[in-house]
Amino acid sequence: MRRIPLIAAALSVLPASLACQDRRPTLPPPSIVEYQPRSTLVVPENPVPRAKFPAVDFHGHPPSLDDPATIERVVAAMDELNLQVIVQARGSSGSRLTRQIEAVRAAGHADRFVFFTTLNLRDVGPGSGARIAAQLEEDVRAGAVGIGEIGKQFGLTTRKADGTRLQLDDPELDIVWETAARLGIPVFVHTADPAEFFQPLDYENERWLELAIFPNRRFFDRARFPSFEELMAERDRMLAKHPNTTWVLAHMGWHTQDLARLGDLFDRFPNVHGEVGAVLYDLGRQPRFARDFFVRYQDRILFGKDSFQPDEYPYYWRVFETEDEYFDYYRGYHAFWKLYGMGLPDDVLRKVYYANALRIIPNMPASGFPG
Ligand SMILES: [Zn+2]
Repeated sequence: MRRIPLIAAALSVLPASLACQDRRPTLPPPSIVEYQPRSTLVVPENPVPRAKFPAVDFHGHPPSLDDPATIERVVAAMDELNLQVIVQARGSSGSRLTRQIEAVRAAGHADRFVFFTTLNLRDVGPGSGARIAAQLEEDVRAGAVGIGEIGKQFGLTTRKADGTRLQLDDPELDIVWETAARLGIPVFVHTADPAEFFQPLDYENERWLELAIFPNRRFFDRARFPSFEELMAERDRMLAKHPNTTWVLAHMGWHTQDLARLGDLFDRFPNVHGEVGAVLYDLGRQPRFARDFFVRYQDRILFGKDSFQPDEYPYYWRVFETEDEYFDYYRGYHAFWKLYGMGLPDDVLRKVYYANALRIIPNMPASGFPG
C-alpha cells in the first residue's frame, strides 16, 4: 500500500510526456540526434528518379550561371531529373544579370533557364520606389522575366534610411509592385520563415532540432524581430493593395501546416500563387488533405525546390506522384517524421510541374513541354 503514493509522487515531477506512461526506461534514453530507428515496415516502394512530366523549378538556386563548365554541369543534372527549365531565383540585376543571360545563350542552353531580377530594398526613403522601378524596367528590357526571390530579410530585418524596419506594405514600394503588374512579370517573395521559428525554443517546439542547429533561424526575440502574425498581416495588406500584380509566395507562404488558411488566402486573392520549395515535410505528412488541396487549387501551385541539390528532387517526385507510405525525408532537422505519397492525378501534376509556370512567366521557352 505504501508504494502507490511513492510512485504518484515520482510521477508528479516528470514531464507530462513521460508521466502519461506507466513505465520509465531502465536504460539512459538516447538524445533525439542519436535515436535513428531502422524501420521494419515492408511496403511497396516506388522511387521516382525522374519527374513524370518535364518540370520547371520556379525556385531555382543553381550557382551563378556565367561559365560554360557550371552551365553544362547544371544541365546534365537537370536532364537526369527531367527538369526542363530552372528559374534562376538568385535574382541579379544589371551586368550580373546580363552576363548570365549571355553565358547561357552562348552555351546553347537558352531554352533551359530564365532569370529573375533582384531589388535593392536597403535604405528605402522618399524617391526610392521610383528609382527601384526604373532599375526593374531596365532589367526586364535586358531579359529578366520576374522579380525574386525577394528574401526573408524583407519585413524581418531590412531597415529604411531612417532606421526603422521596412514593412512589407510600405507605400514607397507601391510603384514597384505596380510596375511589375504593368510589365506582366511575377513577384516571387519569401516572407518570414516557419511559424515555429518565431516561437520559444522549448521541448514542445516542432522545429527544436533545426533551431538548435541554426542560431540564425531563431526569431522569437520580440525586441529584435516582428512576430510571424505581424509579418503575415503586412504581407496580406501588400497583396490586397496590388490586385493586378502576379504574386508567388515562396514556401507556400509558410502555411503548409495549415492548408485551410492558405486556401482562404487563395480565395481572397486570385492573383496569388504558392511555390512548394522546402515544405515537402508538411505535404508528405498529410497526403490526403494535401492531395485534396492540390486538386482544388491546381491552378495556383508551382513546383520549386529552393537549394540546388540534385539528389533531393526525387523526394518531391515521389511525394507528388506515388502513394508510397512511410518513407524517409532528405533532411532530418526539418522533420522527425516520415513522408507519404499524395498520388496526384496527371492533370494536376502537369499544372504544378510546368503549365502554371508557363502561364505566369512571360516569354517562357516552350520547347521541351508537351503541347
Ligand atoms: Zn530561395
